[in-house]
Amino acid sequence: MDATNSMQTDEMKSKNPTRTVKVGNVIIGGPEFTVIAGPCSIESKDHFYETSMAVKKSGANLVRAGIWKLRTSADAFQGLGQNAFDLIKEVKKQTGMLLVSEITDPRQISDVFDFVDMFQIGARNMHNYSLLKEVGLVKKPILLKRGFAAFIDEWIKATEYIRMGGNEDIVLCERGIRTFETATRNTFDLNAVVYAKAKTNLPVLVDPSHAIGLREFVPQLTYASAAAGADGVIVEVHPDPDKAMSDGRQSLNYATFDDMMRKLEKILDVIGRPLQKL
Ligand code: PEP
Ligand code: MN
Repeated sequence: MDATNSMQTDEMKSKNPTRTVKVGNVIIGGPEFTVIAGPCSIESKDHFYETSMAVKKSGANLVRAGIWKLRTSADAFQGLGQNAFDLIKEVKKQTGMLLVSEITDPRQISDVFDFVDMFQIGARNMHNYSLLKEVGLVKKPILLKRGFAAFIDEWIKATEYIRMGGNEDIVLCERGIRTFETATRNTFDLNAVVYAKAKTNLPVLVDPSHAIGLREFVPQLTYASAAAGADGVIVEVHPDPDKAMSDGRQSLNYATFDDMMRKLEKILDVIGRPLQKL
């Protein structure tokens, strides 16, 4: 980052050091730690309902679940797409949980506006400036994932495209980057978390599931991120991870998610930042 850029971000921070983003009654970036959990993709009505209820019971504040999946292989499951719309509305009524879900195309903004409560911009679309500009024009909180080959500075600057249209409700999310390492799916960049927290006024979440890609290590990355000052976590949970239609290898089952939540609470206790309770 050159001197001009670092001036911009420092300036941004000094203007409003405590910006929070609200999703319904959930406050991201405030004194409490936020947990978003749920399946990588919605597989059926029962699957979405049961997973939502399980993560709610363990204390998650918001549900995550994919409608459209950008998969490496065009033959792989692409998500239920518009076939999921009706079931989402029904399940949300039953669970009372608000939904974070990725949109991959500007045309989807109006399609899902009424039942997706926070739009996720995925790693593959962080550089899709026309999509960023479009979500900047609507009143909906945005979760901006870091591109897997994006500099921290590019990620921070991408928020300007959203802000341009008037939407200031932006949350950053570190989800791992591509390095020479292949043992793990991506390389979790905790540097980016502490850096973005220090240099911007935006809440910063972590996605340990996509960052490491191996479910047995997801809790450790969660604890480390909480201790390092992340504002929350977004994790993938599935009733039977080995049978998941996408990202099963990195998904926690209900019991391991619950166990993680209990240990996370203890760590948050030590750093004096309670888990958000609704
Ligand atoms: C996801 O959250 O399921 C996802 C595809 O994330 P990312 O864009 O970070 O790969
Ligand atoms: Mn996923």
